[in-house]
Amino acid sequence: MQSQIKKSSSTQLALNKHPDMDTIVVALGGNAILKPGENGTFAEQMENIRSTAAQLAGLISGGKRLIITHGNGPQVGRIFQQQELGLRAGLPEMPLYICGAMSQAQIGIMIQQALHNELVLADCPRTIVTLVCQTLVDPQSEAFSSPTKPIGSFYSEAEAQKAMAEKGETWIEDSGRGWRRVVPSPEPLGFPEIEAIKSLLAQEIVVVVSGGGGTPVARSSRGTLVGVDAVVEKDLVAQAVAQMTGAGTLLILTDVAGAKINYRTPGEELIGRVSLKEIKEYHRQGHFIPGSMGPKVLAAIRFVESGGNMAVITSLENALPGAEGKVGTVVVR
Ligand code: ADP
Ligand code: MG
Repeated sequence: MQSQIKKSSSTQLALNKHPDMDTIVVALGGNAILKPGENGTFAEQMENIRSTAAQLAGLISGGKRLIITHGNGPQVGRIFQQQELGLRAGLPEMPLYICGAMSQAQIGIMIQQALHNELVLADCPRTIVTLVCQTLVDPQSEAFSSPTKPIGSFYSEAEAQKAMAEKGETWIEDSGRGWRRVVPSPEPLGFPEIEAIKSLLAQEIVVVVSGGGGTPVARSSRGTLVGVDAVVEKDLVAQAVAQMTGAGTLLILTDVAGAKINYRTPGEELIGRVSLKEIKEYHRQGHFIPGSMGPKVLAAIRFVESGGNMAVITSLENALPGAEGKVGTVVVR
């Protein structure tokens, strides 16, 4: 038991003392997989992922080692819907965290295959692998007493009341659009599979990890893991993975050119190269919406504060110049 607990401590966060300038952790936003207005067919998702993979292949053929992580919102939402339909046909439901794991495999294999193909075509073949990863969280933390993260589709009040009474779930009325289930969004504390990520990286293998923030798990006093229904912000997970693997760069790719101050006001302004001190001040002033740009900026701050070289927030199309810190919001020490 002692050794188990000791072993678990090596999965915890530590300062990144010698960041590796050639290793980049890339966090892909939802738009890398599904664009607004699309139905989400396999063909649509595969085509989006193919063009995302072309960007990532450019980084790899340029000599970078990549760890890739990604969002999963629409995909896990669909898995829920399929389960609900299945339930009516008498098929048993899986917990939320298992649905999340399904989405890690589903999106991971598409990235894995598309990136393989782009690298073959670029005459730069690499082994790529998806790891279905767990993320350690603290079930005693504040996040569990006030769930904030909406998941799945919208339902009627009657359906929400039923789920609350029968399953003990938390549901909220979401700005007049209907009722939605909300789950806790706890901090990532460590990764049980971190040693696998590190050793694959050392072998020049490209890894896709912790999709949708990974499968949240809690560690019991005996050292065993148990799944919990929660969603960890993928940007914070990307930061924690980057810190633990000693990556030099955290590259957060999304659907906007970067973080803005005075967002959606006449004084709106894109933040370019910025010091840690300055961005922390903007964050404190509340320029970034929680649940969207907020966690990206927080991840960038944490990354540079923990010893990382540079954190960049930019659009997917800007992946290559972004990785060099030439565009987007670039946080440096
Ligand atoms: P992703 O799937 O990439 O995580 P999110 O929707 O979570 O995407 O976050 C990106 C969104 O954050 C942008 O599309 C924008 O609408 C929103 N956002 C909120 N605050 C800001 C800000 N201060 N500057 C820029 N974008 C912001
Ligand atoms: Mg997001």
